[in-house]
Amino acid sequence: ATPTAIMVGSGKGAENGILIKTGEALETAHKIQTIIFDKTGTITEGKPKVTDLYAIDLHENEVLSIAASCEKASEHPIAQAIVKGAEEKGLNLSNVESFTAVPGHGIKASIEQREILIGNKKLMESNGVDVSVGQAKFEEYAENGKTPMFIAMDKKLVGVIAVADAPKESSKEAVRKLHELGIEVIMLTGDNRKTAAAIAREVGIDKVLAEVLPQDKANEVKKVQEGGRVVAMVGDGINDAPALVQADVGIAIGSGTDVAIESADIVLMRNDLLDVVKAIRLSKATIRNIK
Ligand code: ADP
Ligand code: MG
Repeated sequence: ATPTAIMVGSGKGAENGILIKTGEALETAHKIQTIIFDKTGTITEGKPKVTDLYAIDLHENEVLSIAASCEKASEHPIAQAIVKGAEEKGLNLSNVESFTAVPGHGIKASIEQREILIGNKKLMESNGVDVSVGQAKFEEYAENGKTPMFIAMDKKLVGVIAVADAPKESSKEAVRKLHELGIEVIMLTGDNRKTAAAIAREVGIDKVLAEVLPQDKANEVKKVQEGGRVVAMVGDGINDAPALVQADVGIAIGSGTDVAIESADIVLMRNDLLDVVKAIRLSKATIRNIK
């Protein structure tokens, strides 16, 4: 492509809030065969809210207060939702004596010398917590597209809490338009398989890679690229940065983390997935002008 065509193309992008950082990205975008979307904050709003709480032996508010006290130390969007949920009910929070985040699994903390675990099944299993009394609720929440988490105190299950994060308004339309362009669409997430499948169904995505650990996201992109497929990755989180670099075209959501924005070739300032379609159209137009 001539420098002029690239300049015109990226200028048009900028007018639409699509920042194209390199000429190469503009030249590659029309060749994309598969687009991989991160779920939380990319397909969904990224503002989860507590929707359900199932308490075992303790009072609901007690379980919520314990969970929120621990999650106060975490920066995960799930944690913020739980803290907000407790604050909205005017619950008192306790001081946390220790806190460890277990990436992709949950958190471990201690309050009044009692060990608290909050997270997915893997976290409970690796800590020897029997989840059977909460299993049915956990599955029910997940099937409804909510993210469920177990809460355990001193290795005993005390609750199951669910947060929900709605898809962005235009996610479904963006997926449909990408399919019309013949592009395969995949969802990539660290979240529960059933939760991910429910959200994917809602927006029309047929392929889901779920329960992927943060450090494995880039490798999943690499696997999709096998055989020379041209793959774009769209994401917003710190977790997504290596995957954005690995992809042939890395696309960051403008409201995302700085690391994601720095790692991407294209940034969508309006946080709208329809702008992925626009970027591809712009690339096509640029190439057509050149030829
Ligand atoms: P995502 O791709 O959705 O950002 P993560 O890898 O951050 O996923 O998290 C995967 C899963 O780990 C979550 O769905 C949740 O079950 C658990 N998890 C992560 N962080 C926390 C937390 N602060 N509290 C409870 N559970 C958590
Ligand atoms: Mg995300």
